[in-house]
Amino acid sequence: MALTREAIVTALVDIVDPDQVVTDEAVLKESSIDRFRRFEELHGVYTQPLPAAVVYVRSTSDVVKVLQFANKHGINIVPRTGHTATEGGLETVVENSLVVDGSAMNKVIKIDPVNMQATCQCGTPLLVLEDQLRELGYTTGHSPQSKPLAQLGGLVATRSIGQFSTLYGGIEEMVVGLEAVFPNGQITRIKNVPRRAAGPDIRHIIIGNEGALCYITEITVKIFKFMPENNILLGYTLENMKTGFEILREVMVNGYRPSVARLYDEEDGAYHFSHFANNRCVLIFMAEGPKGIAEATAAAIEEIVTRFPECEKVDTRYIKTWFDHLNWDATDIAQERAEIVETKNIGNTTEISANWEIINQIYETCTERMRNEIPDMTIIGGHSSHSYINGTNLYFVHYYNVVDCKPEEEITKYHWPIKKIIVEETIKAGGSMCHHHGVGKHRTPWIKDEHGSSYYILETLKKAFDPQGIMNRGTIYPKS
Ligand SMILES: Cc1cc2nc3c(=O)[nH]c(=O)nc-3n(C[C@H](O)[C@H](O)[C@H](O)COP(=O)(O)OP(=O)(O)OC[C@H]3O[C@@H](n4cnc5c(N)ncnc54)[C@H](O)[C@@H]3O)c2cc1C
Repeated sequence: MALTREAIVTALVDIVDPDQVVTDEAVLKESSIDRFRRFEELHGVYTQPLPAAVVYVRSTSDVVKVLQFANKHGINIVPRTGHTATEGGLETVVENSLVVDGSAMNKVIKIDPVNMQATCQCGTPLLVLEDQLRELGYTTGHSPQSKPLAQLGGLVATRSIGQFSTLYGGIEEMVVGLEAVFPNGQITRIKNVPRRAAGPDIRHIIIGNEGALCYITEITVKIFKFMPENNILLGYTLENMKTGFEILREVMVNGYRPSVARLYDEEDGAYHFSHFANNRCVLIFMAEGPKGIAEATAAAIEEIVTRFPECEKVDTRYIKTWFDHLNWDATDIAQERAEIVETKNIGNTTEISANWEIINQIYETCTERMRNEIPDMTIIGGHSSHSYINGTNLYFVHYYNVVDCKPEEEITKYHWPIKKIIVEETIKAGGSMCHHHGVGKHRTPWIKDEHGSSYYILETLKKAFDPQGIMNRGTIYPKS
């Protein structure tokens, strides 16, 4: 028989220290959701079952004890670190869940400049690690816009990506080794070696699991020399996205690796670069690394862009200012929330990826359908911000005024229909519905369409590692 809330809490305070178990109603409410439901939250509406408690774990052994207890009693576990999730990965969709918060596990364990790697506990804020590294002349190379808030555990669990990814790669290319705890309490440590061919790369069972298979407790990432003095910024405006994608492709297929390669459409460009975009698309590059490489990369990009006469060069001082303010901290989040309440205008994003051949078609189809089918839209735009030799991502940006509906109807009236258009058109065209925010709960309905016959592998992992189904129910795997 399932334990009551009271019985769960009573047992927990025996397992960990009582001050690690929080049952305050306000904390439980904000712990039942993530950014996906912020419109409801801002109007005091909470539609998800409240968790029984938030448990602040302090060690791997705390995680083991809590997971073993939950596994024994079939209690749903929602792992959490920085609380910046955007896709419902933190929603507690099951009654009496436990949110297991690792933000107190925040030690930078070792910075190893000989082997060029750093080891941290899961709750280490990326910004803390990055600041320590920069003082020593190093960087992680990882710079998601949420860098001031997100923590290593969540960044790995979501397969996150940063603004310099075209050079450094996504988090999956940075992680060297890991420690994680599985629901039966099994601790696994994957050792830190440069490469190995000792069977499949088991790091990838953990990276991107979104708390649906295991709890990540420790991470080792690569580090790189930090040489910002060599950075070269380039910026252009141009007529249309199709040309922009062609330029990005030329840069990538000819072997150049700028750290930043971003293409904004008119609407998204106007939002970010109103002082120079003039209703045109905006293309931005940054070359970095050793001086000779940065200069050669920038020169090659300039040569490629000159082959497209519609491109007009812009003063990179504007871009530098914009770039310096791109990341979001707690003040930016608070300001955004105040604006949403005041204006009833809210913006969300959906990120996908696709090969070069189909990316422009996906962009055009999705923006046109949103324009025709979704009411009250104020911005329908997007940008590409992470490119590869075989394709790129698209980060759709969709803002709307919430009109004539209750707070709890905002998602079904606007956010969901928008996501449905983007996800379904992308999968239909042959792209991926999810480039870097994770599946969360809100893209799970399409997970089988996304993976096709390879869903067999994903499903088998869940059955093997979480046979009781206690890990983050409804995330990645449909809630039965
Ligand atoms: C303003 C803003 C900008 C953003 N910009 C970017 C960006 O540039 N690039 C990008 O990739 N993302 C971005 N995101 C999304 C978000 O920051 C990332 O998904 C980030 O990786 C989440 O990290 P977190 O520590 O906040 O994790 P949380 O929000 O706490 O959790 C995220 C997911 O990971 C799981 N999880 C958390 N910790 C663990 C753990 N220890 N073990 C197992 N599972 C765990 C959770 O259950 C949840 O499903 C942005 C979000 C915001 C709000």
